[in-house]
Amino acid sequence: MSVVTKSQFPPWIKQHLGGGSTYNKTAKTLEELGIQTICTNAKCPNLGECWSRGTATVLILGNICTRNCPFCAVGHGKPLPPDPKEPENVAEMTQRIGVKYLVVTSVDRDDLPDGGAAQFRDVLAACRRRDPEMRFELLVPDFRDCRETALDILDEARPFVFGHNVETVPDLYLKARPGGDYQRSLGLLKAVKERWPDTPVKSSMMLGLGETDAQIIEVMQDLRASGCDRIALGQYLRPSRDSLEVAEFVTPEKFAWWAEKARELGFDWVMSSPFTRSSYHADE
Ligand code: SF4
Repeated sequence: MSVVTKSQFPPWIKQHLGGGSTYNKTAKTLEELGIQTICTNAKCPNLGECWSRGTATVLILGNICTRNCPFCAVGHGKPLPPDPKEPENVAEMTQRIGVKYLVVTSVDRDDLPDGGAAQFRDVLAACRRRDPEMRFELLVPDFRDCRETALDILDEARPFVFGHNVETVPDLYLKARPGGDYQRSLGLLKAVKERWPDTPVKSSMMLGLGETDAQIIEVMQDLRASGCDRIALGQYLRPSRDSLEVAEFVTPEKFAWWAEKARELGFDWVMSSPFTRSSYHADE
């Protein structure tokens, strides 16, 4: 959770602590099977709520990222090779918890020639072997230098909702996402929509890093022009003392206003609130 002290939080930033039998079962299953989640690694404020609903976003390919974005709490360094047992472990987890809609994400794996795409494919295949009705949402890195290879591999894993986050406005990339490239991210979303026109394409932004309204509108227009149909907007919360500071707490009313704007621009699935994250209530 953010390191802003409690007294500095505006009243609408309140954390759901979670608990109860479903929460305990989710936590125990993840621990027993050694499955990483973005919920814990990113110190997501919704963990209590989501795990109490039996929802968790699995973080495959380890919890060491090859990049080092100052907004993100996930560790960085030299990652381990992909775990060949991971697809079956994730599939087992979905069975034990009764997951019907799974969001799968990963750290950036610039060290792998396919950016980690094969592990995404194999996780989905293992889950489908147990439950052919399961539905999936991928939240992938930008596949720097391997986009076409990665998409060729992911072609075998369809159908899914395809997600890739632009995270913030281009003027803040140097500060917030120095290893990323705004145009590369848009290019990935566009390439996906061109390849698979029926695949819903989703992206997310964190607000409160110092962006202006005009910059947000511009990003939303760029996303629409790149074929993105779904958008999630949430408040950036500083996950550790080393992370970027919050520049602004956006009010719930302003988030509702952004939701309206997004719908006006043609997004057909919109989630916008202080606690929205790309995987928050993704199944709805
Ligand atoms: S919003 Fe996503 S990352 Fe956060 S707890 Fe829920 S499933 Fe996990």
